[in-house]
Amino acid sequence: MNKAALKTSAGFAILAILLAIVILIMHFFFSPRLSTPAANTDISPLPVIVIDAGHGGFDGGAVGGDGTLEKDLNLDIARILSELLRVSGYEAVMTRTEDTMLTTDDGIGKAKMRDLKQRLIIASSYPDALLVSIHCNKFPAERCRGLQVYYSGSELAQNAADSIQNSVARLIQPENRRQTKKADSSIYLLDRAKTPSVLVECGFLSNSEECALLKEDAYQKKLALSILSGIAEVYPPGSISVG
Ligand SMILES: [Zn+2]
Repeated sequence: MNKAALKTSAGFAILAILLAIVILIMHFFFSPRLSTPAANTDISPLPVIVIDAGHGGFDGGAVGGDGTLEKDLNLDIARILSELLRVSGYEAVMTRTEDTMLTTDDGIGKAKMRDLKQRLIIASSYPDALLVSIHCNKFPAERCRGLQVYYSGSELAQNAADSIQNSVARLIQPENRRQTKKADSSIYLLDRAKTPSVLVECGFLSNSEECALLKEDAYQKKLALSILSGIAEVYPPGSISVG
């Protein structure tokens, strides 16, 4: 293990300890408040995070040089992120938990649109939520690598995107100099979403080294933990007011 790897491992050990402390603090200070809502009505439960694993079913998404399908990686990372969010006290809702589209339409073109609309319907049923869509990227130039976050128009979404981008660069991709980008109309989900929304392109399947990393369970966990850390900076416990 080289120095950089040691530094990264130490960083994760510290992060894991901090996370455990945060969970304990939340348990002691917030659980009684949530069980007796009449005691303090201006603090809501933790915000809902809607996790959207991109693609699914016959829509495989991007394909790596070794045949890796984006839809599978998206679902793996989304599942881990959801679990981490739940143990941290958030309510995490997944738009899909299986390898399937969210429609039974047989026409491919129509099905993709219906599938995206269904994801929007799920997200919009949680008006105070943050939508986090998980994807992986592909580009003709093989050298391209590194996570990049897109966001919808709201300031909260931009803050969440910046926080996730910075967290990943700080914890697992110190060489990543990418900046977050505001989504245009080509990203249907973010363009139409009513709630603050981000889309995380976790890495490039067209880069064989990064594609191999994205398939590793340990790397997926580091990635999910880094995304969680970014979300927690913008949506800390008790940050959303109601009424
Ligand atoms: Zn995708």
